[in-house]
Order: sequence, then structure tokens, then C-alpha cells
Amino acid sequence: MDFSFTDEHKTLRQSVRAFAAQVAPKIPELDKAHTYDRKTIERMGEEGFLGVCIPTEYGGAGMDYISLGIVSEELEYVDTSLRVVMSVHTGLNSLGILQWGTEEQKQKYLTPQAEGKKIATYALTEPNAGSDVAGIQSTATRDGDYYILKGNKIWISLADTADQFLTFAYTDKSKKHRGISAFIVERGFKGVSTGSIKDKLGVRAGNTGFINYDDVPVPVENRVGEEGEGFKIAMTCLDNGRYTVAAGSVGLAKAARDAAVKYAKERKTFGVEIGQHQLVQRLIAHMVRGIETAELLVYRAGWMKNQGMRNTRETALAKWHATNVASQCADDAIQIHGAYGYSGEYPVERFWRNARGARIYEGTDQIQELMQGQYALGYRVDKPLRKELPAWKPSE
Ligand SMILES: Cc1cc2nc3c(=O)[nH]c(=O)nc-3n(C[C@H](O)[C@H](O)[C@H](O)COP(=O)(O)OP(=O)(O)OC[C@H]3O[C@@H](n4cnc5c(N)ncnc54)[C@H](O)[C@@H]3O)c2cc1C
Repeated sequence: MDFSFTDEHKTLRQSVRAFAAQVAPKIPELDKAHTYDRKTIERMGEEGFLGVCIPTEYGGAGMDYISLGIVSEELEYVDTSLRVVMSVHTGLNSLGILQWGTEEQKQKYLTPQAEGKKIATYALTEPNAGSDVAGIQSTATRDGDYYILKGNKIWISLADTADQFLTFAYTDKSKKHRGISAFIVERGFKGVSTGSIKDKLGVRAGNTGFINYDDVPVPVENRVGEEGEGFKIAMTCLDNGRYTVAAGSVGLAKAARDAAVKYAKERKTFGVEIGQHQLVQRLIAHMVRGIETAELLVYRAGWMKNQGMRNTRETALAKWHATNVASQCADDAIQIHGAYGYSGEYPVERFWRNARGARIYEGTDQIQELMQGQYALGYRVDKPLRKELPAWKPSE
């Protein structure tokens, strides 16, 4: 077993950290104003972060899946809104196209995404269906060389700024979840409109919104996978998105821990630094335990991806644990800050608001818990897929 990061990983971590530190001063204002900065996303693309684990032949940096975790972790150390871009653009969307797309789709869509020239997202959730994916109502009806796409998506990250949407809709409702198909939809297609959700608890420096598809003609060549493979595609995309959420949560938990440690050495009560009180030490000790166990689960999942091993269970476990650790660390960091933690003067209240969402998106706590129970009981078994996510190999 090798728990070490390579020199390449360490260099990457330093460069993401430096980038995130430059962006950090803007975050509190954006968060207060409930607005986002598209230029920051474009800069992430210019730095190569958006294609970090995409092979060089498709415009990416050709780094491994551990690197994707490192980028996610370091971005969320500063703010969740930055990591969300990695989750939807790279995790849920680009890696889905890498796994399931045709060579033409990889050239036309994946390459500009990996180069950061186009921003993409993943549109599954609908007003009446989140956890219950088979409950979506969007339809794509074949008409010659096109599908006519009709439906509404909501709670879609980057809805108002992405150029492309990996979208899921029924091509045959009678087949239940086996009748869902996946499509790449461009913002410029006739009948696409989007809007933002203005009042959210967290990820306020990021964009979340809705997409309306009003009889949108989508070329047949934009269908990803076969008709009816959409549900499988959506689920395997989650294997990668959840990995970035889990890694990001480690970053948020570390930010909460660092803020708490700093404050515990500054603030005095009863004549000593509050860090000297054993009950405060206990809160910090629990943070350390959570962060280090989450890190192990996250990077084990990254290692499995590098080997080309199926990692649905392990990634879901990492996501479930890491997001709960982040939530608890942020909560305890507020406790350690006392009343100041309850104000916007310190970042810990933002961490707490941001951590909360990750226990809802990409599979709620309850869905993760059910999955682990079902795997343990043998009710859930992963079958081989027609197309697997490629194992990582160093670029030549
Ligand atoms: C900030 C943010 C960003 C998001 N970004 C995206 C995105 O980019 N793309 C996208 O497609 N979606 C996105 N989502 C949507 C997200 O994935 C869904 O909100 C999530 O899957 C839960 O669905 P729901 O909100 O409809 O809740 P529901 O599915 O209605 O669940 C409501 C409650 O019931 C529980 N529940 C449901 N079914 C069961 C069950 N079988 N057993 C036990 N409990 C159950 C849930 O755990 C939850 O507590 C985002 C959401 C947020 C908050």
C-alpha cells in the first residue's frame, strides 16, 4: 500500500492553492450578493483544471484521478462554488462523455470542454423528480434525424452560464428507467431557455438554476450511448461527480478545522486560550478524525478509478462520510467561534451553509445510506457495463 502523493500531485496542489488564494478575496462579496463570476470559471479552464484528468488526446492535462480529487479539495478549501464547477463540468459531464461518447462527440464536445473553451453541466433533476430518477417527465421523441426534446430541469448547477448540458429524457416511457436516454444539448439550440434560483442557503457564489426545453430539436448524433442507456449513464456520471464532492468536502472540513484552530489560539476565556479547554480540544480532535478517515476513503476511490476498477460503492461511501464530516466540522467550528461564528465576520458560517447542500445533491444522505445497506445485504450488485471509464495511463 502506498499512501504518498507523487511530486506531480504536490506541484498540482500548490498551483491550485495559489489560484484559489487569488480568487478568495472576491468570495465573501459574491456570496453576499448571491452572484457568480463567469471569468473565474474561464480562468480555471485556462489553468487546465477543467480537463485535469482528461487524456491529452482530448485536450486535457492527462493527469490521474487522484489529481481530480486534489483540485476539488483545494478549490473547496476556499469556496464550494469553485469545486461545484469541477463536479458538474468535469465529474458529471466530461467524464461521462469520455466513458460513453462516440469519437465524434469526444472531438466536438469533450475537447473544448477539457481545454476550458466551453463550460458544461449535467441536467437530470426535475421539479417532480430528484432521488427518484425514473420519475422524470422530459421526453425526446424521434423525428427523422432529430429528437424533439421537451421538459423542465431544475436545481441545475451553472444552468445560466454553461454552454452545453448533458441532459436526460425519456425516449420510451413504457420501459420505465430503461427507456431514458442521454443527450448533449447546446445552449444555442432553438427552444432552450434558462434562469437562476435567487435565494439559496449555500453555494451563493455559484450559479444554480433551471432549464426549459421547449420542443428543442437535438440531432441524433448528439445522443450519448444507445437509446435506453440514459439511466446507466446518469448513474456512472454520479460515480465521478460524487468523487469530486467527497474530495471537496475534505477541503471544506480542513478549512473549518484551520479556522477553528486559529481562533482557539486567539480567544481567551477564564485566563487561558480557549484551545486549552479540553472540551474545545475534543471538538478539534473529532475534526481530525473525520478529515483523515474521509481522506482515506476519497483517495482509495481515486486509486480504484486509476486502476479502472468499478467504484460505485466505494465512491458513494466516501461521499456520504466526507459530506457529513464537512457538515460537522463547520458546525463545530461555529461552536468554537461562539457568537462570532454566527456572524459574517468569519468564514465559518459560510462553510456551514455550503456544507449542507452536499448532503442533498448527487444523492442525499438517505440514498447513500440505502446503497451501503443494500450492498452489504447483497440486494445490490454492480454488473459489468458496456463501456467502462478508462483506467488512467500516463500520457506519452
Ligand atoms: C445546490 C444544488 C445543486 C444541484 N445541482 C444539480 C445539478 O447540477 N444537476 C442535477 O441534475 N441536479 C442537481 N441538484 C439536484 C439534486 O441532485 C437533488 O436535489 C437531489 O437528488 C435530491 O432530490 P430532491 O431535491 O428532488 O429530493 P427528493 O428526492 O424529493 O427527496 C426528499 C427527501 O426524501 C428522501 N428520500 C427520497 N427517496 C427516499 C427513499 N427511497 N428512502 C429514504 N428517503 C428517501 C430524501 O433523502 C430527502 O430527504 C442540485 C441540488 C442542489 C441543492
